[in-house]
Amino acid sequence: MKPITDKIIVSGPCSAESREQVLQTAEGLAAQGVTAFRAGLWKPRTRPGCFEGVGAEGLEWLAEARNAYGMRIATELNTARNADLLLKAGVDIVWIGARTATNPFDVQDIANALRGCHIDVYVKNPVAPDPALWLGAIERIERAGIKGRIVAIHRGFCTWEKDIFRNNPIWSIPMQLKAQRPDVPVVCDPSHIAGQAELVPHVARMAISLGMDGLFVESHCNPSAALSDAAQQLTPDEAGRMFRNLKLTE
Ligand code: PEP
Ligand code: MN
Repeated sequence: MKPITDKIIVSGPCSAESREQVLQTAEGLAAQGVTAFRAGLWKPRTRPGCFEGVGAEGLEWLAEARNAYGMRIATELNTARNADLLLKAGVDIVWIGARTATNPFDVQDIANALRGCHIDVYVKNPVAPDPALWLGAIERIERAGIKGRIVAIHRGFCTWEKDIFRNNPIWSIPMQLKAQRPDVPVVCDPSHIAGQAELVPHVARMAISLGMDGLFVESHCNPSAALSDAAQQLTPDEAGRMFRNLKLTE
């Protein structure tokens, strides 16, 4: 199994939970042609008392996955305070979460902490459907002169009116961003849009048919036992089947 397009594919569990879970998921995804592996270390939970991530301890597991399977590794940079830690660990990609992306002070602190560094920065859309706020976050990272790729992620928006989706996609917003900034790839995170595994392939198909530049997908070796976002994670085999069906891998 190997990638057959220049679309971006990043996949891995919502959270790093244990060394075994990280390595088993990475092995499964590598076998499906995935070359960039995501796992959250610090989790932005809506209410306290839930699993909040393993923190810095998980960095060793990610490094092991990179060494064992040759994958690039990605994690959420939740605060500028953790930037050095991730840079020293050689993380290839950091993403800015949807909650962080709403706060220009936090985004600016992160931009300052990454100034001039060789790292890819993926910027999720802010939770509120505010296209200028999303673009502004991208511009703050850009102005810090990052020597890596800047990518936008459409992960849907919080709305009071509940649809079938966990976070409603508003496709016109990423499409408008692509039109305004054709130099910034825009990928879709169908997992946080869908909120349930069965819907993920449908959202992913929509994104690819609209010409989006790739997928950022949650996958776990044992989704029902996941400590966060259990309902929306695909097994590596299911994720692999989805990528093949979308002709992103063969
Ligand atoms: C995640 O990717 O696991 C995550 C917490 O995403 P978001 O910031 O989009 O909610
Ligand atoms: Mn998640």
